[in-house]
Amino acid sequence: MSTPISNRSTQPQYHGHEHDQGTLSTPWHPNLWHPFAQEALHDSPEMICSGWGPWLELEDGRRVLDAISSWWVTLHGHGEPTIAAAIAQQAQRLEQVIFANFSHHPAVTLAERLCLVWPGLDRLFFSDNGSTGVEVCLKIALQYWHNRGEPRQQLIAFAGAYHGDTFGAMALGARSLWTNPFDPLLFAVARCPCPATWWDDETVEYREQGALERLEQLLETPTAAVILEPLVQGASGMAMVRPTFLQQVAERVQAAGSLLIADEVMTGFGRTGALFASHKAAIEPDLVALSKGLTGGFLPMAVSLVREEIYQAFVGENPQRTLFHGHSFTANPLGCAAANASLTLLEAHPERYEGFAARHRPHLEQLARQPNLEHARLCGTIAAIDLKVSQSGSLPHLGQQIRRACMADGVFVRPLGNVLYLLPPLAMGDEELEQCYRALTRAVENL
Ligand SMILES: *Cc1c(COP(=O)(O)O)cnc(C)c1O
Repeated sequence: MSTPISNRSTQPQYHGHEHDQGTLSTPWHPNLWHPFAQEALHDSPEMICSGWGPWLELEDGRRVLDAISSWWVTLHGHGEPTIAAAIAQQAQRLEQVIFANFSHHPAVTLAERLCLVWPGLDRLFFSDNGSTGVEVCLKIALQYWHNRGEPRQQLIAFAGAYHGDTFGAMALGARSLWTNPFDPLLFAVARCPCPATWWDDETVEYREQGALERLEQLLETPTAAVILEPLVQGASGMAMVRPTFLQQVAERVQAAGSLLIADEVMTGFGRTGALFASHKAAIEPDLVALSKGLTGGFLPMAVSLVREEIYQAFVGENPQRTLFHGHSFTANPLGCAAANASLTLLEAHPERYEGFAARHRPHLEQLARQPNLEHARLCGTIAAIDLKVSQSGSLPHLGQQIRRACMADGVFVRPLGNVLYLLPPLAMGDEELEQCYRALTRAVENL
């Protein structure tokens, strides 16, 4: 699966748009509204016809490497054949069934397998995407305290956090340009600083100490839950923290009798070099949200895993105890079949994610020598580095410049502000990875 398709080995030829900002090459489709996209500022989306392994093929025949796993979901590679076959097979047997009165084997199997790799987390609740996976954790945490007759309102999240775009998830996330229009309606969340770190960072201990002191202060107020993205905050710019910091956070949360929610929507399923970031960080959350890589990136699905003790607080003859939450497509059998096939691949080849950091490292070391880059950092399959902000013009403009230059070299990247990062699917071969770094290096040199 990870071998590049040989009869398509010609390098992609991209004739980049040489236009200025504002003069767009192709018009935007009059009936579509694309996410996070601004017609007045951005290039229009390009038509993709197929994908295989790390490659995407455009309608005009160009091929580009998907260096960010299509927004962090494509886990093994595009068109991974065993997952495609599992979905096709399941579609012919049972495509969907109401999950309130019925259960089915793909769901049972997936729940058993995931609970097995998460000792202590014995209950699994299905939903549809990362945001709902987080919402479900949040509602369970709040209702848990309510059902126990000791309601707690305070929630603690980290600076820079991103937990999704629905209202609850948005409230947990950092306030930003993205949340501005809704800020007055977002519920209050206490914020703890995030002591992000990088190679040769000499200030990290000092900043970790400050964050822990702040957390201790906040935890003096009875707290329903503390939510964090373990090891790597994705959307805030691949901000990485040390495992020891997370252990100290977990200790304090536990000592305060509060619940710890790990949002592993992005970090789950090998991205950080271990099957799950919480395992690598040696923390034991009470609730976990998983989504992006769950189905190998084939179908939208999420799960929230919780401790048995939490579930038991919802069991009782009083209907008030029930978790009144569900989605039309809860536990969709196609999604479950895809997730089971994806897990089988991960279990058969742990070396693919465990060994990825070592493949990044020499390239990232080389890239870090660029004078206009700083703060190189690496965690499993995720490599990131910052453009020095002092020399940057307008950040969105620079990001777009880099994206265009890389596209011209056959590599699709999507910088986050001044953060350049690669988060490739496991099918990315050595030569292809080298091509990604070559493209980034050239793009940065030509800024
Ligand atoms: C992407 C993401 C989400 C939201 O997932 P969606 O599927 O986009 O709703 C939540 N948390 C984290 C950490 C994410 O990276």
